Amino acid sequence: MNEEEQHFGLTGTCSFCGDASVAHWTQRKTVEVCRECAETVLPVVIADAVISSDPAHHAERSLERVTSAYWKAVAGAVVRARDDRRSVAGEARE
Ligand SMILES: [Zn+2]
Repeated sequence: MNEEEQHFGLTGTCSFCGDASVAHWTQRKTVEVCRECAETVLPVVIADAVISSDPAHHAERSLERVTSAYWKAVAGAVVRARDDRRSVAGEARE
């Protein structure tokens, strides 16, 4: 278990299916997810949450917000991955 896993109390397993996780989100609790569940389960959870409150009004607006949040998150993930690669390369030179 590395420092990040210890700090966030990660188990390394997907919170939904139990396979190996590849990402996590920590607020009050930590949710870990594998790629398969990220692409298939999380959208269902989002849809259930949105539709449960007001189906007609929220579905279209929610899609816009989810899409916007997704692309912002992709940009952040690309930057973090680049920084991680630079950090590893820097450590290799030391
Ligand atoms: Zn999973």
